[in-house]
Amino acid sequence: MSDSVIEAVIDNLRKRDDKPRTFAVVTYGCQMSARDGETIARLLTACGLVKTDRAGAEFILFNTCCVRDNAERRALGNILRAVHEKRSRPEMMIAVCGCMAQESGGGAARTFPGADIVFGTHNIQRLPEYLLRALDERQPVTDIWEQAAGVEDIAEDVGGANEHGHKAFVIAMRGCDNMCSYCIVPYVRGREHSRPMDEIQRECETLLAGGVKEITLLGQNVNSYGAGMKGGATFASLLRAVASLGVPRVRFMTSHPKDLSDELIDTMAAVPAVCNHIHLPAQSGSDRILALMNRRHTHARYLERVAKLREAVQDVGITTDLIVGFPGETDEDFEDTLALVEEARFDAAYTFVYSPRTGTPAATLPDRIPEDVSRERIARLIAAQEARTASVFAGLIGSEHVVLVDEAARRGSGYVSGKVERGMSVTLPGGEDMIGRFVPVKITSAGHNTLRGTPSDDRVTASP
Ligand code: SF4
Repeated sequence: MSDSVIEAVIDNLRKRDDKPRTFAVVTYGCQMSARDGETIARLLTACGLVKTDRAGAEFILFNTCCVRDNAERRALGNILRAVHEKRSRPEMMIAVCGCMAQESGGGAARTFPGADIVFGTHNIQRLPEYLLRALDERQPVTDIWEQAAGVEDIAEDVGGANEHGHKAFVIAMRGCDNMCSYCIVPYVRGREHSRPMDEIQRECETLLAGGVKEITLLGQNVNSYGAGMKGGATFASLLRAVASLGVPRVRFMTSHPKDLSDELIDTMAAVPAVCNHIHLPAQSGSDRILALMNRRHTHARYLERVAKLREAVQDVGITTDLIVGFPGETDEDFEDTLALVEEARFDAAYTFVYSPRTGTPAATLPDRIPEDVSRERIARLIAAQEARTASVFAGLIGSEHVVLVDEAARRGSGYVSGKVERGMSVTLPGGEDMIGRFVPVKITSAGHNTLRGTPSDDRVTASP
């Protein structure tokens, strides 16, 4: 389907009176999923629908995630409740999309009975057509594509407002070729595919002209950007190209340790707009478990990359993901993970208990870890990281940083919050007029998950 056909469908929908008037997108999962949610919202806005909250929406889209069991169960429960609600609200329509829909493949209609539309991760741009068909035919529409086919042609930017005002996500690449043995992503998001650099730059220029101050370049394995592309583009060259447009702050996620090149570290060190923060999932500190996970890095190699980052990038913040209870994980393996937390000195870690995903190699591994053992391990891991975070935060008291203010801390509280370059949240006195502005701040104290500070002078600026 060409762009002009999609535009004709959008135009047709815009003029119809029987379409739902309002919509809400309920998104689960990662930033990539959040970015897909934005694309869906832009498509529906272009079709003449108005975004509203979940309770009042006539068209509710569940943009799902299947990376972990608990996210999946939460989404299923909410979809079932919406299907039940629909019985007393006949004007209501329900769509299910995202990774759970993609994973259900040919069985999607059976998996989500009561949904009006089910579509996968590779065909988001067809949503207007599915809505038109569901309205015309008055029966459910299900379409799951096995692979991507030019999603970027329209779904990346169909116009409409950038939701975050001063912050935006831009997709640099989609999919993943790494095949970590526990991960469902390569099966539901497809193989790695980088967007052309000039297309990304054009999108960033538009965002910049619209007042965006911070752009986060997204990809499941963002630092392997350019692999397989003609012309020798690398992720570091993409970062430099985006920064050269004048974007005040550039972030990126998520990076794989094996693809963290010296060129990328040097670029982080040399280009002021590139934030001094990297999210670098380690997943485990045990070489034996890392091999079972097919991670293709080791404890020593991970620490070598961390050392190189700390040496080159001033005041760098490193965050990570860690899994406990992977099949066969012994006490000794777990101790290696605890050791990594101490050695790498993470600012923060997202910790998870392993949950098997059907269809992944790890799901068939023997030696499952009993639940009580996993629970005990994750409690110890969280405590170790909390102690580490507290010591990092304590070390920041008295230091000066620039905060990009994001929101009122609580409405009418007289406080706002935002992020420093290194990625931590800071609460400071101020009003909503500071949202989207850069404020130099002195850190005065530290809470559990956030720092507190005061503006260190009167400068509130449009750039850092
Ligand atoms: S790098 Fe591994 S964990 Fe990350 S998306 Fe790819 S397969 Fe999944």
